[in-house]
Amino acid sequence: MTDPTPPDSEFAFELRTCRWVERAWPPIGEGRDTGPIVVARQLGTKRRRWDTIVLECDPVGLEQRARFGPDRLDSDLLHVVRNAPDEWAYYRDALPHPGYPWRYVREAIHRADDRGIVETRRDGNRIQIRRKWPYPDWIERIVAIENKPDLDRSAARVLGSQLEYDVAMGLADEVWVATRRTDERVEPILFEDLPIEAGVLVLDPETLSAEVAWYPRSLAVDDPGTRIEERPEGGRRDGSAARFEYVDRDAKAAKRLAIAERAYERGWRSFVETMRPDCRHFELRSRPGNQLVPYCGAQGGCQTAAACAGSCPEFEPEPPAWRTRGWPIEGGPGSRCRQLLEDRRRRRRPGQ
Ligand code: SF4
Repeated sequence: MTDPTPPDSEFAFELRTCRWVERAWPPIGEGRDTGPIVVARQLGTKRRRWDTIVLECDPVGLEQRARFGPDRLDSDLLHVVRNAPDEWAYYRDALPHPGYPWRYVREAIHRADDRGIVETRRDGNRIQIRRKWPYPDWIERIVAIENKPDLDRSAARVLGSQLEYDVAMGLADEVWVATRRTDERVEPILFEDLPIEAGVLVLDPETLSAEVAWYPRSLAVDDPGTRIEERPEGGRRDGSAARFEYVDRDAKAAKRLAIAERAYERGWRSFVETMRPDCRHFELRSRPGNQLVPYCGAQGGCQTAAACAGSCPEFEPEPPAWRTRGWPIEGGPGSRCRQLLEDRRRRRRPGQ
């Protein structure tokens, strides 16, 4: 059934953006072959979380990344798989000093062994390791998109600061704002005080079509970044100093890889993991573009992930009969919703 309710919440808009990206990326350079992409949402660093992330990937590299399994490799695992030698060697001889105690490296080696992504053996009481495959260079570009369907003045101010932070840090190769298309001759967002480096995409969530209103500039991901820690609060007349610190290239490269690994694991359909598909009011409804979005029968629309929790006053567990009395799909609708999204997520992770 197609949901007649317009997807008007920021969350619903974000899901539509993710689906549009999956179908139509890249928005510039028609016909430009970007290779496969991975789309994820709500990821970033401790200080800055992006709404939508697009990884433009090297096709061969992505196939090779798939050998390491669908789960992310955290920094400890990356240290092991990226430095494991071709031939058997004592791990302390083979790996560079991690900058933290070796016992954590040993734990990571055991985890890598359990996942089957590195080989280990014992020589007396020494652990030797050997790599199974080289860890590939699979990420070509990382693009961050902020979703702001309806941008009022105060939201624009906050967004302006966030984008300035992104531009100064240069963690993503490009930053964009996606906003709802209006009927105005000039899109109102273009009158806002946003950094000129950020691109603007106007999206019609109903028809799932979009166009570029402002072209982005590539950011200097290979240069050291500047992290804005604190800025004057008093507007343009406030002459107090901003506080910032430099972030070196290696730290940025490590952060980019960590973000990419998490994006690879999570995708953007994992929203159901933080929602309550086991609530009797939870449904998945179809939207144009062959997309399933959550729908709350009690609220009569697309609920947010934050609202759809055990603390929701209207939460009611799905009746046990849905699970036991001839429900056509094993496990009842809650489990079925989860499974459906999980299947789509897996199919959309190229290289799997
Ligand atoms: S009633 Fe609450 S918990 Fe149930 S689907 Fe709606 S938002 Fe989610």
